[in-house]
Formats: sequence, structure tokens, C-alpha cells
Amino acid sequence: MLCDCHSHKISENKICLCSLNFKEWKKNQLLKNNFTKCSYGIHPCYLDKNEIDNLYSLLKSNPEKIDAIGEIGLDYFNNTLIETKKLQKFFFEMQLDFAIEFNKPIIIHCRKAVNDILYFSSKLKKISSVIFHEYWGTVVEANYLLKRGVNAFFSFGSSILKGRKKSIECVKHFSLDFLFAETDSPFQNTKLIDVYNEISKLKNMSLEIVEKNIENNFNNVFSVHL
Ligand SMILES: [Zn+2]
Repeated sequence: MLCDCHSHKISENKICLCSLNFKEWKKNQLLKNNFTKCSYGIHPCYLDKNEIDNLYSLLKSNPEKIDAIGEIGLDYFNNTLIETKKLQKFFFEMQLDFAIEFNKPIIIHCRKAVNDILYFSSKLKKISSVIFHEYWGTVVEANYLLKRGVNAFFSFGSSILKGRKKSIECVKHFSLDFLFAETDSPFQNTKLIDVYNEISKLKNMSLEIVEKNIENNFNNVFSVHL
């Protein structure tokens, strides 16, 4: 079965459905099916103190209803975002602590901030799985995390379809054991099967092998017991 490791919209695939706030999380609880895993986290572009409280109380009261914390991270894409650097780090670190306390995997959103993410590697190391959604860094930076003992995974979607060089290098370089595919729907207009086909082409492996490996990763990260 195809697995979409990061989407904001339900589909027929096995997916990790991401909620950016409590309202969305509640709505997604009604939409989810047996193949849906739910993530909820405070995105670096939408920092809201109330949402931190919502997330923490939910983790306390219904930990089984949050399969992952995310997307969380750092985004220095433009000057307005750079101005909130300090606050972004504060929210990010707090949610890393939640992931450690409640033993949840995390989904990371990171643009132009890989170096600052690496700074948190001693905390990342304590987290069961760390998935970089649409990973923007280099092979060297990814290796740095893995060598520090971070159980990191790198997910790709529209970037490889658009031919982004750094992303393509990562897909070629890393074994399927570290890779995920995603749509980030509806923010990106990406078909999951196209991403799978591209990974299979870049790695020169059959679609079946890619599908099987990524599903294994998905099951391991989200502890889906078959
Ligand atoms: Zn997203």
C-alpha cells in the first residue's frame, strides 16, 4: 500500500494526517479511517501560545489520539519569519520535550534552518523517530544527524518531481530504510504515485521494492502492528 507520510487531507492511501491546530485536529478525528495516523503540532509559521496548551492537554488526556507531534520546526524562508527566530526555537524545543515525555515521533518542517535544527541533535536523539518532511538539507547534514544517533528519516514529494538537485541527491544517496514519500496535500499539488515512480526511477529499483520498504518504515515509525 502506498504511504503518504505528510498530508493535510485524507486520501485512499495510508497516511499521516497533519493538523496545524486543535480545531483541525478535532475535524480530522472524524475523517480518519483505519489507515490514518494523526499528527498535531505547532507549525513555525503559526506560533500560538494557546495551541501549545491545547496540544499538551491533549497529550495528557488522550495520548493515543496523537500518533506524532508535527509539523514542528524552524522556518527562516523570509525576513518576516527570521524576525521570529527566537520564538520559533522556543516553540520547537518545547514540542521536542513533549515528544520525549510522551514518546511520540515528530514531523519536522524546516526551510533554510537546517543548521539550527542540528543544534538540537542531543534532544532529537532522545526521540523515537524524527521525520524531515520535504527535507531541504544536504546529504552531509543528513549524515551528521544520523552519526549523532538521531533516528532520522527524510521525506520527499514535490521537490523531486520539480527536479530540486539537493533533494534528488539525498534520494539517490540514502538507502530506502531512511526514506519516505509525501504529498503535503493540499498545499502542494502532488500525486503520491508520481513521487513513488520518481523514487523508483532515481534509485533504479522496482516500484514494488520501493513500496514495500516505505510501508515498512511507516509501520515501524508509527508502530502499526499487522
Ligand atoms: Zn505540511
